[in-house]
Amino acid sequence: APNPPVTPVDPAASRALFERAQAVTPGGVNSPVRAFSAVGGTPRFIRSAQGAWLTDVDGARYVDLICSWGPMLLGHAHPEVLAAVSAAVARGTSYGTPTEPEVELAEEIVARTPVEKVRFVSSGTEATMSAIRLARGFTGRDVVVKFAGCYHGHVDALLASAGSGLATLAVPGTPGVPESSTALTVVLPYNDRAAVEAAFAAHGDRIACLITEAAAGNMGVVPPEPGFNAFLADICRRHGALFITDEVMTGFRATRQGYWGIDGAVEGWTPDLVTFGKVMGGGFPAAAFGGRADVMSRLAPEGPVYQAGTLSGNPIATTAGLTTLRLADDAVYDHISRAAETVKQGIAEAFTAAGVPHVVQSAGTMFSVFLCEGPVRDFADASRTDVGAYAAFFHAMLDRGVYLPPSAYEAWFLSAAHDEQALDAVLTALPDAARAAAQ
Ligand code: PLP
Repeated sequence: APNPPVTPVDPAASRALFERAQAVTPGGVNSPVRAFSAVGGTPRFIRSAQGAWLTDVDGARYVDLICSWGPMLLGHAHPEVLAAVSAAVARGTSYGTPTEPEVELAEEIVARTPVEKVRFVSSGTEATMSAIRLARGFTGRDVVVKFAGCYHGHVDALLASAGSGLATLAVPGTPGVPESSTALTVVLPYNDRAAVEAAFAAHGDRIACLITEAAAGNMGVVPPEPGFNAFLADICRRHGALFITDEVMTGFRATRQGYWGIDGAVEGWTPDLVTFGKVMGGGFPAAAFGGRADVMSRLAPEGPVYQAGTLSGNPIATTAGLTTLRLADDAVYDHISRAAETVKQGIAEAFTAAGVPHVVQSAGTMFSVFLCEGPVRDFADASRTDVGAYAAFFHAMLDRGVYLPPSAYEAWFLSAAHDEQALDAVLTALPDAARAAAQ
């Protein structure tokens, strides 16, 4: 039987804040997706969060399936993270000197992942930008290869769209990026080995690096086909280019070791450089890039490639990240895995019952739903998702107390704090929301 009708809370206070925000901030937000442009309506301004739940300025509560776009692996306001951060804050918030938590966090990352050395920065964008500079500095080459639909932050050279042919150089993906910034970028279709081979055949001795999301999560979740990352590692090695896996989203999230834990660690290959962010900052601005010791040693002050940051390795951010990673044991990943299975099954049942074409795709504990027939293996496939149906679904879920990503092209995130009560709220909302998507 359908659930009883819901009376959603009128987001009056969010609406008022959004109007004030729009007067002083472009679009009223500090990162575009937050504005609800893709789904319409009023973005909810969140006042507080606890565990799996968000509370907005109108007092409405939502199960959070965004988790700050990935970082909140343990859920919001985890008491041990808060205690560690509060103790760190009391000792002062930034010194611009080396500190112990940086060393400990670097050791933890080196222990969990294939990187031998790591350098901290403050955002994933900085991590990928710096990794590319280092790859160019190390190889003495200038061309960068990336995949359409993979997002690596707003780095000029990576805000690029494919040129007219597969192996041709890219064009700017946004006004403000000069052609000269993308003229050294090649953009290829994801999961397409022939395209990669063609690009290396055309530009092989000029390619400094190939960067890929370890598993694509920014066009919805599109995992690499079996062996694809290993193929990329191999073709890069054969051409003397560096292989960079971007684990900003998947790192310490898809598995304890990131996505590498379910492919490279099993298949026996290692990336030359890896970028991290999100979970490793525990909800604070911290990110990193790391990799082979001989490559990392080319960074200043050990080597000639310049890279720096006033707040890099900030003691509060590194304390939050370190505490989060230390608490993120196998039980945490098992829990999130099981919770993801439960939600994925609920999604499939609800859309099947409502007669809405859909496919749910995963990368470790991350997943997303495409409202189209699957499989979705690249950006062209992902673009077939029905964004209108998603908007209706999104608002029906929001009205029923579930805050999904306000865009059809985003991964859904769960946390260790998504308990039975939170999952029940999601499962209860899904059937009605799927019917809303069918209309
Ligand atoms: N790389 C990936 C894979 C990401 O998902 C993101 C952000 O979503 C970034 C890089 C950029 O990170 P940031 O937003 O911290 O600059």
